[in-house]
Amino acid sequence: MTAQFNTFIPPVRTLMGPGPSDVDPRILNALSRPTLGHLDPAFIGLMDEVKTLLQFAFQTDNQLTMPVSAPGSAGMESVFVNLLEPGDKVIVCQNGVFGGRMQQNVQRCGATAVMVQDTWGQQTDLQKVEEALKANPDAKAVAFVHAETSTGVRNDAKAISELAKRYDCLSIVDAVTSLGGIELDVDGWQIDAIYSGTQKCLSCVPGLSPVSFSHAAVEVIKARKTPVQSWFLDMDLVMGYWGQGGKRAYHHTAPVNSLYALHESLRILHNEGLQPAWQRHDEMHQTLKSGLENIGLEFVVDEAYRLPQLNMVSIPDGVNDAEVRGQLLSEFGLEIGAGLGELAGKVWRIGLMGYGSNMKNVDYCVSALTSVLKR
Ligand SMILES: *Cc1c(COP(=O)(O)O)cnc(C)c1O
Repeated sequence: MTAQFNTFIPPVRTLMGPGPSDVDPRILNALSRPTLGHLDPAFIGLMDEVKTLLQFAFQTDNQLTMPVSAPGSAGMESVFVNLLEPGDKVIVCQNGVFGGRMQQNVQRCGATAVMVQDTWGQQTDLQKVEEALKANPDAKAVAFVHAETSTGVRNDAKAISELAKRYDCLSIVDAVTSLGGIELDVDGWQIDAIYSGTQKCLSCVPGLSPVSFSHAAVEVIKARKTPVQSWFLDMDLVMGYWGQGGKRAYHHTAPVNSLYALHESLRILHNEGLQPAWQRHDEMHQTLKSGLENIGLEFVVDEAYRLPQLNMVSIPDGVNDAEVRGQLLSEFGLEIGAGLGELAGKVWRIGLMGYGSNMKNVDYCVSALTSVLKR
């Protein structure tokens, strides 16, 4: 018997979970263009534009700004393995799932993570961060998540980075869900190392992780006493391929077509402008909020630090979480996110990210939820 395999045709979905988000058709179109050699001069020209566009999106002049050829988690890993050496100490702020991953990264580098814990759904407490800095004058860096996707909380990236600077520490920021969705100013806020992802507010396909390192961070990398334990993520080696100027040496084969897609997504963001994009996310969030509150759903996170691109609402008493999400998916082709960790079964997470942050999605989500919850 010979097995038969059919072409995979994905079902039509509206992605309103924590990511991936709906990909703009212009970006999918860019992805399908013919593959070039990864050292082709035409492709190198595109790489240079991707770097410039990323500097724009991050609002930075950092030379070391580029997409790591792997998802957001690899961007995270590249920041930690390049900056840390065994014996270092890092203050890690945690108020959700992703701060916990930072802790694991720090520990796997042979460094110590001093945890600043806050309740999931609440903001990182600046006073606790300052106390940790005072108690640990030997700390090398402060690491935190700007947009905590597991809860929908915005941490005060500007204030935490300022605190880090005041105590002579590097700041390390997870901007996977924040880039393109809310205000982010890498140079203005003096952020030293930052990583993001392509599948959240950039509305691009998953699998790339934009990163950026400040001059101070580059100096720390240059002064390392030990080699970076990851060959693939060692920025010194990666820069031989992504570096400025005509000389590019083979390091790994760039995901050529994915970079066409990222270029298109950043070009779209550039055309819209950062401020208008942030404003659109905010307006769509306000409209979704009215719609959800009209059908009796309540937001969990305080309005003062709620993310517009990730809306966390409580599941009403007596409502079956999995059943509702299952019906939304099977009958409406609509994906929303479940609660993570200690919030599993208690909340839904509704994403309004990038291209998906539009009136059509807002209306569709409210009407689908209305219809399913009526049963
Ligand atoms: C999605 C996400 C990540 C991980 O990104 P992947 O592309 O899934 O590896 C990291 N941090 C935050 C805040 C995220 O939302």
